[in-house]
Amino acid sequence: MENPVANKFFDIVVVGAGPAGLSFARCLRDTDLKIALVERSPLKVLQNPPEDGRDIALTHSSERVLKELGIWDHFPINQIGNIRDAKVLNGKSAYVLHFDSKTTGSEYLGHLVPNHVIRRAAYEMVKNQENVTIIAGVDVIDTETNLSGGSVALSNGSTLNCTLVIAADSRFSDMRKKMGIDAPMHDFGRTVIVCEMTHSKPHNDTAFECFHYEQTLAILPMYGDKSSVVVTLPTDKSQHLLDMSANEFASDIQQRFGGQLGDMKLATKRHAYPLMGVYAEKFVKTRFALLGDAAVGMHPVTAHGFNLGLSGAYTLATEIKTAVAKGIDIGAASVLGKYQAKHRAVARPLYIGTNALVKLFTDTSMPGRILRGAALRLGNILPPVKKKIVQQLTEIDP
Ligand SMILES: Cc1cc2nc3c(=O)[nH]c(=O)nc-3n(C[C@H](O)[C@H](O)[C@H](O)COP(=O)(O)OP(=O)(O)OC[C@H]3O[C@@H](n4cnc5c(N)ncnc54)[C@H](O)[C@@H]3O)c2cc1C
Repeated sequence: MENPVANKFFDIVVVGAGPAGLSFARCLRDTDLKIALVERSPLKVLQNPPEDGRDIALTHSSERVLKELGIWDHFPINQIGNIRDAKVLNGKSAYVLHFDSKTTGSEYLGHLVPNHVIRRAAYEMVKNQENVTIIAGVDVIDTETNLSGGSVALSNGSTLNCTLVIAADSRFSDMRKKMGIDAPMHDFGRTVIVCEMTHSKPHNDTAFECFHYEQTLAILPMYGDKSSVVVTLPTDKSQHLLDMSANEFASDIQQRFGGQLGDMKLATKRHAYPLMGVYAEKFVKTRFALLGDAAVGMHPVTAHGFNLGLSGAYTLATEIKTAVAKGIDIGAASVLGKYQAKHRAVARPLYIGTNALVKLFTDTSMPGRILRGAALRLGNILPPVKKKIVQQLTEIDP
């Protein structure tokens, strides 16, 4: 049988049809650029991604971009949670750092949407896009680029030639390694366990982040009487929580949260993710760019990962569209260099700030505890500090 993509030439080959790769392809819907999107998961997984426990807090800017791309319209209404208030608690202290949506002039700080819903909606929008060819169930095994073009070798024996290669192949990106881009990994030595839980008392659209010295517990409001539960703890202590029966786990979380949500019940599987941060030393090379987690893999505590990936996808697509309009080669170093400069300017402070926050809130030493208490009070007392935090939580502009 004839291979439909063998020896075909594309303007852009995107490795990875995760949320970043799909959103990037969607950003280029109004161009004549021919795009191949190669994904190792089978087509049925792209069509109906499994629930993976990640519930994504979306900023106002992401909401705007997802609406512009038509992706938001594919979110079922009963899958969109509202975050109106956020409260941060420090250990057993009764002191609360409170972020109230009213102070932002908006009705909410952000929305919470399950990752599998975002992935399905993004696929729905891209699947019939005329300039995109989706090649699913196939691994990219190698890539090479030079001044005149790039090539991508697939596990089915085909080779795709192109003008530009984009790697959106996760924080463990093989393409980044193959292209010789250094990306120091930061192992936080912690694992995050995520799941959804129903409860007998309403959450009132309030998100809680409770820092208990070695462990953190985040409870994020979903649609209805359901919350996303995120427990972060040292990796060697995580198995114990995963081994608990559903009832034991539910009463453990209920107790950790002081029963504030009444009776709690596990509504999904528990999923565990070892926490690794990564920040690539450069985002571009000859006719090659890193996108999404492949460029920056964030600790989830500040909920920036996908928001940042989406902002990067929008920035890169905008530079490419400008190049097309001016008749410039889309893989030119000047085009990719602009993406790199703009995206690094947004990503670097978020990456450094998030890692500093993680350090502050996991430091069990006495100075660490005092500093943490002071930071929470300063956040409440100093309006500019609070405003800056809220701005970072609600907006990541492309
Ligand atoms: C517990 C948790 C909670 C989170 N909460 C938030 C949040 O609240 N807000 C937020 O913004 N972000 C959050 N994130 C981060 C967010 O999930 C990620 O930033 C986002 O999923 C990254 O998308 P991506 O497309 O870059 O990578 P991925 O989702 O990792 O997708 C990469 C894709 O590439 C494919 N692939 C890899 N290698 C190859 C290859 N060689 N050939 C073909 N295909 C390949 C993979 O199969 C995969 O489909 C959270 C993450 C976790 C773990």
